Amino acid sequence: MIGFGQAGGKVVDKFLEYDRKNDSNIVRAAVAVNTAKADLLGLENIPQDQRVLIGQSRVKGHGVGADNELGAEIAEEDVDEVQGAIDSIPVHEVDAFLVVAGLGGGTGSGGAPVLAKHLKRIYTEPVYGLGILPGSDEGGIYTLNAARSFQTFVREVDNLLVFDNDAWRKTGESVQGGYDQINREIVTRFGVLFGAGEVEAGQEVAESVVDSSEIINTLAGGGVSTVGYASEEVEPKGKSGGLLSRLTGSGDDGDDGLDSAHTTNRITSLVRKAALGRLTLPCEIEGSERALLVLAGPPEHLNRKGIERGRKWIEEQTGSMEVRGGDYPISNSRQVAAVILLSGVTNVPRIKELQQVAIEAQDNLAEIREESDAKLEGLVNDDEDELESLF
Ligand code: GDP
Repeated sequence: MIGFGQAGGKVVDKFLEYDRKNDSNIVRAAVAVNTAKADLLGLENIPQDQRVLIGQSRVKGHGVGADNELGAEIAEEDVDEVQGAIDSIPVHEVDAFLVVAGLGGGTGSGGAPVLAKHLKRIYTEPVYGLGILPGSDEGGIYTLNAARSFQTFVREVDNLLVFDNDAWRKTGESVQGGYDQINREIVTRFGVLFGAGEVEAGQEVAESVVDSSEIINTLAGGGVSTVGYASEEVEPKGKSGGLLSRLTGSGDDGDDGLDSAHTTNRITSLVRKAALGRLTLPCEIEGSERALLVLAGPPEHLNRKGIERGRKWIEEQTGSMEVRGGDYPISNSRQVAAVILLSGVTNVPRIKELQQVAIEAQDNLAEIREESDAKLEGLVNDDEDELESLF
């Protein structure tokens, strides 16, 4: 996992925290790349020697502002330094690369597509992107950066997973507090998804555990992806057969003391909530090319019938012939969660709107630049052109 720029670094840093808390082994290795020294210093979990400061001769550790063309140039010039950090990773042990970046800024916006292109040239493992779109209140330049970076990033990765800050921002919250919450949402969704591919033999292996190859196959074919998520608290094992349920005789018709019809219904409703609720990138799910349904939680709360029903329902809703599904058993969890990866989505009004605003910003910027050139000319030169400059 490689975090490019500030947002990218922070999100990868959060993934490491998630991994540690959940013992989930998602991130084999983490690297943070930035042109701003201060942003690298602010990270907590990424090892010091895996933090790469690029562009030192050009911007002296101060970042590129929101200039993503400069971000891309620097990334190209210094890609060997990033490669140096990746060289210390046992790449044969990773299933895929994930390059994470906020697309509205400069360093990640420009650098992430450059790095993706480089990685694809060198390695046979798939290279995915996780691109974060800016909030619509961030202004024209961020929107323009994001629209240009999005276009480039999609082309350079095997699949671009998208998270839209705009759909997730809460009004009235401080930006920092807001990002902490948003980053948690990002990591929860993608954490469950990627964690599903990491269940090893010896752990609770249920009948239909999701394998990393199923994630890879769902993402194969490229394009843009979005993720839906819904969860519900459940009683951990042992408690469901507790005093009260014994007295009332409820929850008692399976071997494990759980009502299987209830389990199936819960799964079906979670699947609907996940698909119809807020997606990481809001879009029309009809027309998605491929999908993957992951049901995560204590094994006694998962069942094949629920997953099958959920899978069928997603097939109907998307019209896709390629919907995969499986379990991600987590024995000590207190939640059942449904995660749906929709890959190859094309009906995304938010992207069209982003592009429209970006084009307007681009036109305005060009106009303003021309105007101010003319105005400056008018200011510096005397009206009658009587003065002569020195040289
Ligand atoms: P860079 O360092 O030049 O790549 O730029 P940043 O990563 O600071 O910002 C790029 C964009 O990412 C911003 O316009 C925001 O939309 C977004 N962003 C910045 N920080 C965060 C964060 O912590 N979480 C999320 N979700 N988005 C962020």
